[in-house]
Parts: sequence; structure tokens; C-alpha cells
Amino acid sequence: MNEEAELLRQRGESVIHLGIGEPKNKAPINAILSSAAKLNTGDIKYSPTDGIPSLKKAIITYTGENYGRIPDPDNVIVSSGAKQAIFNVLYTLLNPQDEVIILAPYWVSYPEIVRMALGVPVIVTPEDGGLHPCMKDITQAVGSATKAIIVNSPNNPSGLVFSDEFMAEIVEFCEKRGIYLIMDDIYHKLVFDGRRPAPCYEFTDMEIEDSKIIVINGISKLYGMTGFRIGWAIAPEKLVRVMTNVQSQITSCASVILQAAAEGALTGIQSIVESLRLTIENNRNIIMKELESFNGIRVARPNGTFYCLPDFSAYNKNSVELSELLLRRALVVTVPGKEFGMEGHLRLSYAGSVKDITEGIARIKWALDPDSPNEIYIGNRKLVRDWL
Ligand code: PLP
Repeated sequence: MNEEAELLRQRGESVIHLGIGEPKNKAPINAILSSAAKLNTGDIKYSPTDGIPSLKKAIITYTGENYGRIPDPDNVIVSSGAKQAIFNVLYTLLNPQDEVIILAPYWVSYPEIVRMALGVPVIVTPEDGGLHPCMKDITQAVGSATKAIIVNSPNNPSGLVFSDEFMAEIVEFCEKRGIYLIMDDIYHKLVFDGRRPAPCYEFTDMEIEDSKIIVINGISKLYGMTGFRIGWAIAPEKLVRVMTNVQSQITSCASVILQAAAEGALTGIQSIVESLRLTIENNRNIIMKELESFNGIRVARPNGTFYCLPDFSAYNKNSVELSELLLRRALVVTVPGKEFGMEGHLRLSYAGSVKDITEGIARIKWALDPDSPNEIYIGNRKLVRDWL
């Protein structure tokens, strides 16, 4: 779909991208200065595989401040993005045929990475038809082959922050049953309405070293630094040691220039995080207002990330078909819910501009809702809806 959108754009069509997973901000100045300073030294070599000590120190401070636990340097490994951190964890943990519980709706990469590590993804979909996971559904799916459960809250694609009650239950369950709990916390500061996802360690008395919790985080969403490709994992030392071996055979280490940028972001002025959060919260309010006036769709109000996942099944139960129709007829890019294990839904991103959000939803409404006027202007071209 992205390729088709790009071709349309190259032909001069006014395509609106509600599929993107990154904010539009510029990189924080401290990140730029710090990486430029490193570059200026001309001393650009390998770093230790698990990351430069000063960045690991900044990650330790960040974890202490935000999670109430201070990891040891041996509990931290820096990778080229949270995605590589997740790959390292799963490659380290899984033996062939080990099962990993993945909660639908899920980030598209989890099942693929589990398969690459020769594991078996076990998808658990909420029985109640909603988007928030339920412990009962999860316990029913756990068996003797279950090695890990992946939890992503705030969630891509639903935008939901999972309840403290759920988090307390799943942490207790995993600690008791000896199942690894992989917390993908990449959106943990991008929350609205005064919500705060409770840090997972709050629900366990175990030290990091003895706990089953593995925390994944990074700078991509926190600072809108997706292109810098720095993420990390916090885990017991014995796992970090194996993850370091895995990483040493794949990338050797993350680039020192980009590690310097991450250190600059983490130790620099933090107001950028709040300003990004406020911009995205405002965008969330706008997209919700537009969607609420839309007959026939149901949408859970997101309280984090920059995504929502409305249920469009009243218009078309096939989300791929629907997404294609919206691109071809209305020149709007969306992501089919099928890719996240939620057929009938579409993921809409509100990371872009207010203009793109309002115009994008107006176009979707025009394309799908028979009660909306059947003419629309896209640029200075008048389009007439003749397919409903
Ligand atoms: N986890 C989730 C849930 C994501 O949505 C993404 C990126 O979209 C990532 C991890 C990857 O983050 P990174 O850019 O640090 O690799």
C-alpha cells in the first residue's frame, strides 16, 4: 500500500498519509550537538557490543527515574532500535517450538520475529470483542510450551493504555509461573488525559536480576528520533550476556554517532518530550471529534501513542479491501486491521499535521458514508462519489 501511495504521490496526486508511525518533529538539539561533537572528534570506532558506558549510565538514570528500579550496567544492552532489542530477546529466549503469547491487536513485527527465532506465536484475541486484553483469555492460552508473553502498553495499534489491574495480574502470573514478560514500553511517555502507565516493576518485589520482566524501550517515539535507530533492553544479567553474544554476530554494536545522539537526548533538555506529547494529545482530540461524527464506525478513545483503531466492519468486513478503496478513491493511506490481528478495523495515525487529519477523515467519510455529500474537492479537482 505504501508503494502504491508513493507512486500516486510521484504522479502529483495529493495523498494523505494516515498510516505513518512517526511524529513530524525535528530531532532534539542536544541529540544533534552530541552526535556532531562525536563526529568532530574523527574517532569513530566500534563501541562495546552492549553499548557505550556513558549511554548505559543515562539509560540507568532514566530507568531509575521512570521505573523506580536502578539496573546494574550488566542488566542493560543498547541495540539498533527497540526492534533489534526485541529480536535479541526472542532469539535468546526461544528454543524451536517454544510458544510466545501475543495479545491482539499487536504490533505487526512480533509474530514475524517469533517465527524467525523458530518459536510459535500464539495470538490471544479478547473474547469480549474489545481491544483490551483479559487475563482469563491469556491463562487459557498458556501451556507447557509457553516461554514468554509480550505486552505493549500504550498499545500500537489501539492506542489503549492497559489498566493497572491487568498489569498487576499479568506480572504476578508471569513471576509465579516462570514465564518471561516482555514489556514493549516504546510509547510509555506518550500518554494523555493525565494517564500514566504504571511501571511494571511496581507490581513485583523481585529484583531485576531475579524477575521475569524484560523491559524494551528506546528513543524513537520518546523523542521522535525514529531515524537514529537506538533502543535498549533491561533484563537479568544472564540474558543480557546471551543477547550481547547474539548482537555481536549481527551488528557488533550500534553506531557510536547514534549512541552519542541518544545520550544527548536522554541527558539534555526534556521539554521536547512534553511538547511532543501535547501536540499528539491535541491531534488525538481532533481525530476523535472527527470520528465521533462518523455514522457507522465504533472507536475506542486512545489514551496513548499516535494511533487509533476504529471498527469499520459496518462498511466492509475486509480491511485490506477497504484500505485499498480508500487509497484509490480518496487518496488516503490507512493500515488494514488484518495486519494487527483485528480484521474489520483500520489503523489511523494522528502523528501528522492537523490539516492532514481533518482532511483525511473528511475524505474517508465522503468515500464511505452515504449520508455525507457525494461531492468533494481534492486540491482543485472535484470528485463525485458514484459507488454507493
Ligand atoms: N515496538 C512497537 C510497538 C512499535 O510500534 C515500534 C515501531 O513502530 C517499535 C517497537 C520499534 O521501535 P524502534 O524504532 O526503536 O525500532
